[in-house]
Amino acid sequence: MIEVTVKSKISGRFKTGSFTARELLHTYEDDLVCNLTQCNCQPVGETYVVECNCDEEWEEYDLFFSDGF
Ligand SMILES: [Zn+2]
Repeated sequence: MIEVTVKSKISGRFKTGSFTARELLHTYEDDLVCNLTQCNCQPVGETYVVECNCDEEWEEYDLFFSDGF
């Protein structure tokens, strides 16, 4: 498995996940970051729409892999 770390340039927080090389090969960077930075906010009321601004934190990020690049 390859460890992937995404670090927010906005808050400095980071999240880490592990993927196989094949998964990474088939995943766009945007989707990878989206996957890693999913938040746990709950939908409001009876809609299924989660209204939060968590993704703004990840609009600017650095991506690191466990091989050091
Ligand atoms: Zn959220």
